[in-house]
Amino acid sequence: MRKINKITNIFFVCLTLILTLFTFSGCVKNIKDPTIITNNNIKNVVLIIGDGMGQNHINNAKIHFDINNLIFENDYLTTVNTSSKSIGTTDSAAAATAMATGVNVANRKIGMDGNSILENIMEIAIKYGKKTGIVTTDNLTGATPAAFSSHTTDRGNSEDIVLDQVTSNINLLVGETHNLYEKYRSQFLLENYVMCNSLSELNNNANAQKIVANIENLKSIYNIEETNQTNLSSVVDFALEFLDNEEGFVLMIECAHIDKFSHKKNLLPALCEVRTLFDVANTVYNFALNRDDTAVLITADHETGGLKLANNKTEISNNLYSKKSHTSKNVPLYAKNCTFENVKNEVKNTFIFDICKNIVLN
Ligand SMILES: [Zn+2]
Repeated sequence: MRKINKITNIFFVCLTLILTLFTFSGCVKNIKDPTIITNNNIKNVVLIIGDGMGQNHINNAKIHFDINNLIFENDYLTTVNTSSKSIGTTDSAAAATAMATGVNVANRKIGMDGNSILENIMEIAIKYGKKTGIVTTDNLTGATPAAFSSHTTDRGNSEDIVLDQVTSNINLLVGETHNLYEKYRSQFLLENYVMCNSLSELNNNANAQKIVANIENLKSIYNIEETNQTNLSSVVDFALEFLDNEEGFVLMIECAHIDKFSHKKNLLPALCEVRTLFDVANTVYNFALNRDDTAVLITADHETGGLKLANNKTEISNNLYSKKSHTSKNVPLYAKNCTFENVKNEVKNTFIFDICKNIVLN
């Protein structure tokens, strides 16, 4: 009898343990699933991506340019895990694809997982009647704009990227000058795109339905040694006005050269680019502040350079870089006019897509 009691006790102890484990793992699962609560009024989303911009790029730019407070600082949400399906750290192609499609893919993939085409946020937005735009300081064939506007198995397939953009129906495509857009001029015109080569041409075509613009000197606007640069904030101002409509819009803005200068361990131009991202954020916030229908997300695709934080202005130098490549360091995410539940200190980069999709379907 005593033996049977003992067995029964062990059975109940085990059962309790199993039940506790189940309940506990249920809670853990809830904690790991951040959710977005979208305000009914939100119909626009602006996603600002600093390519290669880690938290220390932001903080060092603040130190170097004597900036006490950033307009978006209070909207800090969490950090983003940028890892891709590849071994090692992500590249811009996989990271942008994760943000544009919500799927974690291998490096070099543009809007594709293996050989499968992934629907991107711009395609979803167009289906839901929204306007769409991409503004980048890179070529429009660069990995980040490409992942939001095309599908190809390798980021180097520039012609495939341009041909997908021709039929993308994205309302506004703005990037640095690239000869492929001249080569495919007739195809763009056939799809009713207006082609522009300067900010003034953009402004002259404010009533067009679709614009593809290659603007010279957009690339170098952050290079402190160069002049005659087009102000990115002016392009963004145009984009906001051009896209604004009853149904709402999705706009992706990329500051591409934080990464490019960080690969060269060239800190000052990289920080100038970060400052330009601050200016762009000011422009977008000024648009969003006067209304309750626009969400703003600010993040990066990955960190570049393993940048250390300076203690003061005199320490700002190229020595703060610890490497010339991308790192797996988490990057920050700021979110304005979005409410969340269960967001802990890290989200996966695919969560950015979830936020944008949530707003598009709102
Ligand atoms: Zn890079």
